[in-house]
Amino acid sequence: MSLSVSYDENNIFAKILRGEIPNSTVYEDEEVLCFMDLFPQAPGHCLIIPKKEKATNFLTATPETLTILMERSQKIARAVVKALKPDGFRIIQFNGTAAGQTVFHLHFHILPIYENHPLKPHGSKPADLDELSHLAQKIAAAIE
Ligand code: AMP
Repeated sequence: MSLSVSYDENNIFAKILRGEIPNSTVYEDEEVLCFMDLFPQAPGHCLIIPKKEKATNFLTATPETLTILMERSQKIARAVVKALKPDGFRIIQFNGTAAGQTVFHLHFHILPIYENHPLKPHGSKPADLDELSHLAQKIAAAIE
């Protein structure tokens, strides 16, 4: 059952954390990394992940990690709103294949919502890397 899979050191986010594959970084500190989703559902869609704890999902994370992720998610969401001025945003977190989880390293999605702009399907097609980098810089510049 995918809710109880053990942590795979070769999952894509573990590789990003080890610097084995590139990412468009928005924010990084000792505890978290925030980077642009490569298959964004809307412009500014980014992901925030813990750097230290190898948690596969919400259930296997410690309360301390969840607290840090929530605090940093608010910080990034504020910057997304300031930089991109969406009409709303969602904080999303999937657990288990049946719920739509595809990467088994705990993460929260920060997904801007723009009125009259339907969301692209979850994990549809890769974004232009220059555009992702531009958006990452724009959000990063708005972080307080
Ligand atoms: P989930 O489906 O909730 O597990 O979310 C995983 C997310 O990771 C999806 O939204 C994917 O678009 C995204 N993703 C997959 N590979 C990469 C990658 N190499 N860089 C950035 N985002 C990725």
